[in-house]
Amino acid sequence: MEPQRLDRAAGVLLGAACGDALGVPYEFAPRLHGDQRPEMIGGGLGPYRPGEYSDDTQMAACIARALAEADADPGGEASGSEAGGAVLSGSVLDAAAENFLTWRFEGASDIGNQTRAVLGAAAPARGAPGVAEAMLAAAHERYDSGVPSAGNGSLMRTGPVGLCFLDDPQPTADAARLVSRLTHADPLAEEACVLWCEGVRHAVAEGGFEGVRAGVDLLPVNRRDHWAARLAEAEEAPPQAFNPNGFVVTALQAAWSAITTTSGEGAEHFVAALENAVRAGDDTDTVAAIAGALVGARWGASAVPARWRSSVHGWPGLAAGDLEDLGRSVARQPASALRG
Ligand SMILES: [Mg+2]
Repeated sequence: MEPQRLDRAAGVLLGAACGDALGVPYEFAPRLHGDQRPEMIGGGLGPYRPGEYSDDTQMAACIARALAEADADPGGEASGSEAGGAVLSGSVLDAAAENFLTWRFEGASDIGNQTRAVLGAAAPARGAPGVAEAMLAAAHERYDSGVPSAGNGSLMRTGPVGLCFLDDPQPTADAARLVSRLTHADPLAEEACVLWCEGVRHAVAEGGFEGVRAGVDLLPVNRRDHWAARLAEAEEAPPQAFNPNGFVVTALQAAWSAITTTSGEGAEHFVAALENAVRAGDDTDTVAAIAGALVGARWGASAVPARWRSSVHGWPGLAAGDLEDLGRSVARQPASALRG
């Protein structure tokens, strides 16, 4: 793979982690104003150490590891859940679900309500083939019973899915939907993940931000006008206009606004966009983690300033170099290792 693509792939998890750690100190705190610069000083809900990222990047790492460790030749018979269909192999999807449960009981320093409820319901299937099916079923049951399931908790962790099929938008979108559904069965959450994963995929493959808007064409025909209008709103208003942002739609708008209304390019844009994402207020670490995956994909790991590189870290014992390695490993996976 060409060096620029690899640098951008390395930037996806590292960028998310930087946004996450930058937003952690200000989550649900009074909103920062334009003359206040956020810093990775820790605290927040954990409380976290300076530079430590939170559940957003922890869960993204769960997904990335499942993808990076997929076996290109598992030696014959298909194993694991059948729920992946032709999108992701059952064993890859099971590994993601299993990693979520390991994280839930061994690593989760904080956790959203929706994710807590679904992982709790799926916990009895831990360690068994079919754990992903149990998780998908738990998420669906919750949604079908009328519990709102369109929080930002699947969008916040979706970045690595954009690295699965770097030359192919349709399977990227299919994988985005499936991985979102593990915990969030509302179609709005799936649609947001489709847009963001196409944004990440395109940014890594081509080096540009056009993928988010192009991703609208990957949605059902009757949903395209809705999302095109939401993206246009985000391009016309500052990130704090989309506050509160616990809802997946306003979280995406806040992140997209932070990216598209911030000027500059390269390292300058990377830093300023994440600072503006934190200034959205409310769920600051999540909005900045969402934005971070995309600006990291666009500008690459080489755009991350040294002071952030040396500070950012988190569960399960990952530092900046590990996050870069994970991103590159997912990007290098052949489609045959990931597909069902
Ligand atoms: Mg968080």
